[in-house]
Amino acid sequence: MNERLSPFEEKVWLSSPTMHGEEATYMSEAYETNWMSTVGKNINEVERLACEKVGCKCAVGLSSGTASLHMAMKLAGVKRGDKVFCSDMTFGATVNPVVYEGGIPVFIDTEYDTWNMDPVALEKAFELYPDVKVVVVAHLYGVPGKIDALKEICEKHGAVIIEDAAESLGATYKGIQTGSFGEYNAVSFNGNKIITGSSGGMLLTDDVEAANKVRKWSTQSREDAPWYQHEEIGYNYRMSNVIAGVIRGQFPYLEEHIAQKKAIYERYKEGFKNLPVTLNPYDEKNSEPNFWLSCMMINNDAMCRQVRGESESIYVKESGKTCPTEILETLAKYNAEGRPIWKPMHMQPIYRMNSFVTREGDGRAKTNAYIPGGAIGEDGKPLDVGMDIFHRGLCLPSDNKMTEEQQNKIIEIVRNCFE
Ligand SMILES: *Cc1c(COP(=O)(O)O)cnc(C)c1O
Repeated sequence: MNERLSPFEEKVWLSSPTMHGEEATYMSEAYETNWMSTVGKNINEVERLACEKVGCKCAVGLSSGTASLHMAMKLAGVKRGDKVFCSDMTFGATVNPVVYEGGIPVFIDTEYDTWNMDPVALEKAFELYPDVKVVVVAHLYGVPGKIDALKEICEKHGAVIIEDAAESLGATYKGIQTGSFGEYNAVSFNGNKIITGSSGGMLLTDDVEAANKVRKWSTQSREDAPWYQHEEIGYNYRMSNVIAGVIRGQFPYLEEHIAQKKAIYERYKEGFKNLPVTLNPYDEKNSEPNFWLSCMMINNDAMCRQVRGESESIYVKESGKTCPTEILETLAKYNAEGRPIWKPMHMQPIYRMNSFVTREGDGRAKTNAYIPGGAIGEDGKPLDVGMDIFHRGLCLPSDNKMTEEQQNKIIEIVRNCFE
């Protein structure tokens, strides 16, 4: 450990909840008036606030982002055996709801410009599977993807977009909010998102009838009858009025959180200026991310050798070079929390047999199903973009309560890894 640097007394988190006071007021209001169930003023208010912020007609408060995505799959009509195109480098919750409905995720490789679904690979996927009707697009770490290109391709092929805006609430593309580009969209209020209810999520859409279906499905699909009458499968997915109180208190602070996260991103950018790294990039002309997490990727020629197995990672230190494993282990030693990039879905044991489409076509043909040793092909290079970003990238501590002083120390810790 560097002599000049001692571990942080209090842990520096990747991204932790930040409360402001009003949350407790709205929660107490629910408590004191006995509106402790899944109806009440807080829910109505957060649904109104979400519509107002995102610019959609309808919002339905649900128990989680995952539940919202599940409802979106049902609305989009995903049925047993249907293939669904999905972002590949994302959190598992983006794609699991496809499987809840019996659908089969087909993973689309990532592009380097925004770390989101590659429109070129998506077009390729429609050549391979022209019958696909649903595409699930995530905006990673709060950075909007190439929305225009993706939308154009989906329209051309008559496919519906489901936007997973769980990480990108408040981010805009050409001045329009993410969460409003798809037919059915999901946001999340779980504990580490840009604003939180401790948990919770929302289905967003302009389709009033669809929103009403979700209201019904998410409250056990009761029919209009004097008894519990059921004609459809139901779910217990509605948002709690207590949780909604927390979200209601957080909403006025969304822009403040984004400004703090942006300042963190800018400071990293400045602090790493002459290092052989790039931060997670965005389309500076057309998009304004919410900067939920700041991430970095190490240039190829500054990567020391690193091999990741299923649950362990090893690397060989070389002078002037480093790797995500070394940086993450070093951060942890100093009591700071970083995280690997989302491990791409096509590399996950549970999805290893699913199709995976890259710019060049069927990624599986190239990767020959799976290489146990990690993300590296015979020539020593990663085989696709997702694998490459996973191999060379990491998420940096991005907590909005991190002080400038703490961040400077993080920057120094990272810089030292390149010695
Ligand atoms: C957090 C997250 C979700 C799931 O949201 P929950 O509210 O935790 O269920 C889905 N997709 C992405 C990309 C996420 O980051």
